[in-house]
Amino acid sequence: MEKIRLGRTNLMVSRSGFGALPIQRVSLDEARLILRKAYENGFNFFDTARGYTDSEDKIGYALSDVRKDIYIATKTPANDRVSVLRDIETSLEKMKTDYVDILQLHNPKQLPDPNDPESAYSGLVEARKKGLARFIGITSHKLSLALEAVKSGLYDTVQFPLSSLSSEEELKLIDECKSADIGLIAMKALSGGLITNAATAFAFFRQFDNVVPIWGIQRERELDEFIALEKNPPVLDDHMLEIIEKDRRELAGSFCRGCGYCLPCPADIPIPMAARMFLLLRRSPSEGFLTDRWKENMERIENCTNCGHCRQHCPYELDTPELLKYNLADYREYYARYAKK
Ligand code: SF4
Ligand code: SF4
Repeated sequence: MEKIRLGRTNLMVSRSGFGALPIQRVSLDEARLILRKAYENGFNFFDTARGYTDSEDKIGYALSDVRKDIYIATKTPANDRVSVLRDIETSLEKMKTDYVDILQLHNPKQLPDPNDPESAYSGLVEARKKGLARFIGITSHKLSLALEAVKSGLYDTVQFPLSSLSSEEELKLIDECKSADIGLIAMKALSGGLITNAATAFAFFRQFDNVVPIWGIQRERELDEFIALEKNPPVLDDHMLEIIEKDRRELAGSFCRGCGYCLPCPADIPIPMAARMFLLLRRSPSEGFLTDRWKENMERIENCTNCGHCRQHCPYELDTPELLKYNLADYREYYARYAKK
């Protein structure tokens, strides 16, 4: 697989990175099969997080014997030095390794103070000094914070949601990272499942020689699609540009990206799916959502107590309870019309 230089880290990573969030949802052995197949087909960059339940265990289980041939990035949600160091020790134990290539702060509310010896940033630096992490990075869903991180010059990599649906403003991050020689990792490259044409999404990223998309992969057939695309990389053509334009028109404005930062919901509403059900019903096969189980999931929206937790934690500043109500009303109509009786 073609490799790409990840900014000043000088790591030569596969142009397709492996996003290891979805492997939480499959068994240990299924995850092993997928991770191994990815490795055998040229993926050498795996991105996980302390917060992705057993994702790190699965990486350790599947890839520890080929550790020297791959690059691993993980993330810590910690807000202070001691917790960062505690988290990295746990991550290393889970992944059966004694270092990660990149240790990232996981979506902090603000940049930690680099001059505070007890800050999370000081924890990253100490982890690097101790050889527990080769490079340090940060992830964010907020453009202003990602740009601030680039400007600070303190981080080797920045990870941000980018896709063919990103705005012109968001895409400016690509040039900013290039000028500063900071590695740019693109999360949500399929916009949380709303971009359904993988070839177009893939070709979109091939335009940039300094962005590494990490594709969230849960099933072998999804992996196969990316392996095939890597073998014959498609080039952005007029037809694909039309698809992108159509997607942009349909998904213009505020929509839920399915990131899950609003969880947990005390009413047990599966917000990352429920808040974009309108789109999921129309942009992917809808049968799977027209079931008794999904009907019950969606009806839980009635139990929303308006506690405000989701609204406060949404990095896209969505009015999540309102969005949920809208999706419930639409779902009921759609269900009445199309669900098999
Ligand atoms: S406001 Fe409603 S949907 Fe949001 S977290 Fe609270 S109960 Fe859940
Ligand atoms: S409502 Fe906001 S925080 Fe919750 S999944 Fe959607 S985009 Fe993410």
